Amino acid sequence: KAASRHLSVSQVTSGYDRADVLKGVSIEVRPGAVTCILGANGAGKSTLIRTILGLNRVRSGTITFGDASLSGMPTHRIVALGIGVVPEGNRVLPRMTIEENLQVGGLLDPYPRRVADRMEAMFAVFPRLKERRAQLAGTLSGGERSMLSIARGLMTDPELVVFDEPSLGLSPLFVSEVFGIVRRLKETGLTILLVEQNVRQTLDVADHGYVLAQGRVVASGETRVLREDAELHKAYFGVH
Ligand code: ATP
Repeated sequence: KAASRHLSVSQVTSGYDRADVLKGVSIEVRPGAVTCILGANGAGKSTLIRTILGLNRVRSGTITFGDASLSGMPTHRIVALGIGVVPEGNRVLPRMTIEENLQVGGLLDPYPRRVADRMEAMFAVFPRLKERRAQLAGTLSGGERSMLSIARGLMTDPELVVFDEPSLGLSPLFVSEVFGIVRRLKETGLTILLVEQNVRQTLDVADHGYVLAQGRVVASGETRVLREDAELHKAYFGVH
C-alpha cells in the first residue's frame, strides 16, 4: 500500500510548565518522502516529536494526519492511525529477547496472527535479528540494537514513521548502517520524519528538511538546496 497521507503541523506552540518551547512551528511531511528536522541541542526537536505523538499538549495551532486532527488525541490512537516511532537512543528492553521486544512493539494489535506475520516480515528485512531471535536484547551489539529498535517501531505497520535521532551514540560504522536502513525503508514507500543531529548524512538521505533553532523554523527547503547553503552551515550546522 502506498503512503497517501500528509502530516501537517501548523503554527504549533507547545512546551513544559509555563514556558513555550515551540513558538509557532509549521512543517509538512509529504507521503512517501523523507523529511528531516535538524537543529542543535535544545532547539526543540524532541518537543516537536512529543507534540506530534500526543505526549505534549498542543497549546495553539493544529496537527493533522490526512483528515484526522491529532490535537488532543491520546498517543495510542495516534499510533493506531498509522504513525510509528523509533525512540531516541535505540532503546530496547534489555532483559527480553529479540522476539519478545518485537511482540511488545505489536501489543496494540489485537490480532496475534497479524503480529506474528509482521514479525516474520521484520525478520525478512533484518535477517540478523532472525538468527538471534532468542537472544536477550541487552547482549546485542550497538548496530543490532538499533536494528531491533527500528524493527520494533515498524511492528505497528505504520504509514509514517518518526525516527528520533537514530544515530545518537553509535560508532561511525553503525551510523552508516542506520542511514542505509532509512534509505531502504524509503524505497518501500514509507513516509519518514527523521530527526537528527548528524547533518551531512541526514541531508544525503532526506528529500527536504527544516532547521529548528530556539523553537522556531529558521530554514527549510529541498535538501539539495540546504546542502549548498554556506550561511546555514556556518550559522546552524557548525563549520567542518
Ligand atoms: P536534543 O538534541 O538535546 O535532544 P532538542 O532539540 O530535542 O535537543 P528539546 O529536548 O525539545 O530539544 O528541548 C527544547 C527545550 O525544552 C530545552 O530548553 C529544554 O531544556 C526544554 N525541555 C525539554 N524537556 C523539558 C521538560 N520535561 N521540562 C521542562 N523543560 C524541558
